[in-house]
Amino acid sequence: QAWLGVMGGGQLGRMFAQAAQSMGYQVAVLEPSDDCPAGQVAQRLINAGYSDGQGLDVLAAQCFAVTTEFENVPADSLSRLSQHVFVAPDAHGVSVAQDRIAEKSFFVGCAAKSGVQPAPHKVIASQADIDAIGDELLPGILKTVRMGYDGKGQVRVRSREDVRAAFDSMGQVACLLEKMLPLAYEVSVLTARGADGQSVVYPIAENVHRDGILFTTTVPGPNVSDDCAKKAQAAAQAIVAELGYVGVLCIEFFVLKDGSLVVNEMAPRPHNSGHYTMDACVTSQFAQQVRAMARLPLGDVRQHSPAVMLNILGDVWFSDETDATREPAWDQVLALPGANLHLYGKDDPRRARKMGHLTFVAPTLAEAQQQLNAACAILGIAP
Ligand code: ATP
Ligand code: MG
Ligand code: MG
Repeated sequence: QAWLGVMGGGQLGRMFAQAAQSMGYQVAVLEPSDDCPAGQVAQRLINAGYSDGQGLDVLAAQCFAVTTEFENVPADSLSRLSQHVFVAPDAHGVSVAQDRIAEKSFFVGCAAKSGVQPAPHKVIASQADIDAIGDELLPGILKTVRMGYDGKGQVRVRSREDVRAAFDSMGQVACLLEKMLPLAYEVSVLTARGADGQSVVYPIAENVHRDGILFTTTVPGPNVSDDCAKKAQAAAQAIVAELGYVGVLCIEFFVLKDGSLVVNEMAPRPHNSGHYTMDACVTSQFAQQVRAMARLPLGDVRQHSPAVMLNILGDVWFSDETDATREPAWDQVLALPGANLHLYGKDDPRRARKMGHLTFVAPTLAEAQQQLNAACAILGIAP
């Protein structure tokens, strides 16, 4: 039987595996930790590091195509796999997306085609770079170049002295200073591109973050104008074409108070803000990834219902500061109309850990939002 492979065993790998299995594939997961969300559902777990040559060879021998659910897999591993098996996304796309400096230069380089620029920024690799920071970049945010997520690896800075302290705290490795922009709201655009160069773009999603972590995604976005949506979707399609990308990719944008659009970052994989597609679109982002890597026609991206997605963090298991013993009242949540609960099989809830998500679909957005508020009340989440 036909096997698909995925690098990484987190919840994105799990939902990918489930989509692949529902289309008749068997799934092999390569992941160093032995108890992982994707490993629980896959037909095969290859327990090896992301750059373990033997593990990669086993994955390549088993599968006819391999993808990644984790943007920080070494690009060299994807290159090695690609000598034996079709790999999507490829090492190039992933290496740009996993390095904030490469990503920002790429966005600048294709701004003429995409019509959008990233935030003003500067690479900070030495004390001399700090001395040379122009006033126009402050206040700003100093970000690590690699491995940052959920706002980790970021320090807000008001002065050159703040930058110096933050740069020291980050171990004086190259960082990226970005100007702090006046955000009105944040949006993301999910796209998929096939090996034949055809691409599709999902409806634009409006995202609310809390403590640096995605809190809700609402589609259609209550603040998003048609003009903004068209511009962001066109930019996303220009960006994937320019990258020569194959697979699902999500691009985050900022909409500023003056209405202008700024490109922030991209994830070379299905994305948390695209989870609503599982319940509200004809083709989910995971099924779309399966199609792209199996070189099948891309699926219909049409959204059939307004939707609101809420991330379920470990916090809802805590009845007090220390005790993670309360079982959330899923029975009450699931009694709400339009509720779709997705839990990732993680059995040790920790604060701020993504344990699952909940998507409400309804005939109108207002109804979906009302049910989401009711779920927040049941779960003890401030709306
Ligand atoms: P993710 O989990 O989305 O990968 P991340 O850690 O890679 O997050 P960013 O998305 O770059 O980091 O930033 C996290 C959040 O910080 C953004 O969603 C936005 O709310 C805020 N932010 C980042 N850069 C800027 C900026 N230049 N100006 C204003 N706010 C910003
Ligand atoms: Mg990021
Ligand atoms: Mg982000």
